[in-house]
Amino acid sequence: MWESLNLKDVVALARDPYPSIRQWARDTGKKVVGSTIADVPEEVIYAFDLLPVTILGTHKPLKKAPSHLPDNACSLARSNLELALSYEGDLFSGFVLPQVCDTTQHLSDIWRINFPGKYVESFLAPRQADRPSARYWVKEEIERLISSLGKWTGKTASNEALNASIAIHNENKRLLDELYEIKRNFPGTLTNKQFFAMMKLSMQVDKAEFNKSLKTIKDGLKAKKGKGYTDVILVGITCDPPEIFDIFDELKLNIVGDTLVDGTRYLEGIASLNGNPVDALADRHFKRGFFSPIHDDVFKNFEETRKLYKEKKAKAVIFVHIEFCESQEYDLPDLKAMIKNEGIPIHVLDTEYQTTSLSGVLTRAQAFFESLKGGSL
Ligand code: SF4
Repeated sequence: MWESLNLKDVVALARDPYPSIRQWARDTGKKVVGSTIADVPEEVIYAFDLLPVTILGTHKPLKKAPSHLPDNACSLARSNLELALSYEGDLFSGFVLPQVCDTTQHLSDIWRINFPGKYVESFLAPRQADRPSARYWVKEEIERLISSLGKWTGKTASNEALNASIAIHNENKRLLDELYEIKRNFPGTLTNKQFFAMMKLSMQVDKAEFNKSLKTIKDGLKAKKGKGYTDVILVGITCDPPEIFDIFDELKLNIVGDTLVDGTRYLEGIASLNGNPVDALADRHFKRGFFSPIHDDVFKNFEETRKLYKEKKAKAVIFVHIEFCESQEYDLPDLKAMIKNEGIPIHVLDTEYQTTSLSGVLTRAQAFFESLKGGSL
């Protein structure tokens, strides 16, 4: 199903992967388990012979979600709920939902109430990840998830099965990392849209299959430097709709680094294969970069952004703001002020999942990068 895709297929599937996931579930007879971002250990779900799918909103209209979540609730949370309530709910046999912010904390109860016949489990990530007790907490949560999935499926996941799953997921991240390096250094080879489509689809389909496509795509690339690109850093949680990447491509912006959950934070999820798999998964939770809702220190966010900007020799930072994301709303004013104080150009790009027009986004981004000409560009 996903082992011989070309770049065009990947871009199309990343926009709407669900028909192909349905077909795959029919063909294999396997169950599909949905998760929302971030940091659910998908390797554990996969080790039970289930397909973990990261749910990243829908572009279809909101119909039922507004009766559960008000208009000023996070756009991604509303869109995810809509996807499950109106469009794809029957595809999922269960959900593992992380609680990373106040919205997701309430949301997991809404999902539980609305899907009484399905398996619904929570994954509770510690909010204060720099406390000594946080690692113990994460390990306990992973063990609790293994036990819960075991009761639901009637199966066990041996250490061998967990390590085999980790190896497939690690391979996926290594391939994406290599593709990122090619795109970063030779922006004429891969567009932003193509690269981030590979990232997104990796979080939604069977990686054992998709890794084969990624390898073939990577081996078939001919490095092209391209001309007139401006290197930028993308900061945020996720960036949607995918047409925003068309805007970056149109403006010849080369994303050379990011802090996205479906970007570098995903790539940072390589877990060690030398030892106990649960320890390895717990350890990697703390190797990942800043993620606003589960850390309590905006200074860390700033330091990571500044470091990335300098390391990658970027010309500007683009902050992707998801409408009504409470965590971002909380951090953004301080972060923006600190970045500006540092003399780093920053553009805040507002996104909304059900948006139908991006012309305003294009105009504002154009104006920002025009204003940098003669300065940092
Ligand atoms: S962290 Fe922000 S984007 Fe994610 S669910 Fe919470 S409010 Fe929404």
